[in-house]
Amino acid sequence: MDRRDFLKTVGAVGVGIAAADASASTAVHAPPDAFGVLVDTTACIGCRKCEWACNQVNKLPVQPLEEFENKDVFAAMRRPDAGNFTVVNQWAREGREGNVWAKVQCLHCNDPACASACLVSALEKQPNGAVKYDPWRCMGCRYCMVACPFQIPAYQYQDALSPEVRKCTFCIERISAGERPGCVEICPVECLIYGKRDELLTLAHERIGAYPGRYVDHVYGEHEVGGTSWLYLAGQPFPSLGFPELGEQSPARITENIQHGIFRRFIAPIALYATLAQVMWLGSRKDEVAAAAHKSEQPGEGHHE
Ligand code: SF4
Ligand code: SF4
Ligand code: SF4
Repeated sequence: MDRRDFLKTVGAVGVGIAAADASASTAVHAPPDAFGVLVDTTACIGCRKCEWACNQVNKLPVQPLEEFENKDVFAAMRRPDAGNFTVVNQWAREGREGNVWAKVQCLHCNDPACASACLVSALEKQPNGAVKYDPWRCMGCRYCMVACPFQIPAYQYQDALSPEVRKCTFCIERISAGERPGCVEICPVECLIYGKRDELLTLAHERIGAYPGRYVDHVYGEHEVGGTSWLYLAGQPFPSLGFPELGEQSPARITENIQHGIFRRFIAPIALYATLAQVMWLGSRKDEVAAAAHKSEQPGEGHHE
C-alpha cells in the first residue's frame, strides 16, 4: 500500500464516520455580537505602518518605523510568520497603471477550521470575534496549520524549549478594553475600519452600491468558509490579490464531524491509531500477497512442490 492508497483508505474511514454523523453538528459558531475589521484595499497606500504597529502591540522583534518604509519587500509575496503576524503585499492594478496593496493576517473565521482541528481546544472563537490561542493547552501537533484554509498559523520552530503557534491575536487585550486593534489605530488613511461585523457588512455593501466603478461586487469574508470577522473590499477580483477562492462551507464541518464521530462512539484516539495501524498492516500484507501472486505468474517462476 503506497501513501496515496493509505490516504484514500483513511479518507474513506473519515468520510464514513463523518457521513454517519452528518447530523452531529452543522451549526456555524458565529457569535452574534462579533467585532470585525473591514479592509478597503482600494484605499491602502502600502505604507506598512500596520505591520510596525502589530509588532509593537504583540511585542515582536521591533525595528524602527523607518525600516518599514523600505518597499523592496514588495518584490516577493510574503506570508505571515512566527515573527510577523501581518504583512502587506503589493499587486498589479488591473486595467490601469500602478499597484494595489492588501494586508494579510488571520481572518478570525466565524467557524474556524484551526479550532476545529485542535484536539485540546488551544484555539477558540471568542464572543468578541477573535480566535484566541492558549499556549498552555497547545501540545504542538500543528494540525491547526494544516487545517487553516488561509495558511495562517505559524510555528516557532527556532524555539527548542517552548515553541508556540503564532498568528494575529486581533489585539484581544486591546479590544477587550474597548480599544481598537493596533493596526487599525495607526492606519493613516482609514483603510482599516473596526466595528461590529454586521455593521461593517452593511457599510461594505453601501460602498459597493455608491461606487460601483470602484469596487467589485464582492465582500470577501462575508460567506467564504462560513464567514470571517475580517472582511475585504477590492477594486478587482480577489484572486488577483492573492485571496484563495473558497466555498461557503467551513472546513471545520469535516474535521468536527470526524472528531464527533470518533468520540461519540467512545473510540479513544489510541483506538483510532490502532485501527489506522491495522489498515496499514492489512494494506502491506495485501501488497505482499499480490506481489507473491504476481511473481508466481511469471514464466518459469511458479512454485515447484
Ligand atoms: S484564518 Fe486560519 S488561523 Fe485564522 S481563524 Fe481562520 S482557520 Fe483559524
Ligand atoms: S499545534 Fe497547538 S493549537 Fe495547533 S492544533 Fe495542535 S494543540 Fe491545537
Ligand atoms: S497602515 Fe493602512 S494604508 Fe498602511 S499598509 Fe497598513 S492597511 Fe495599508
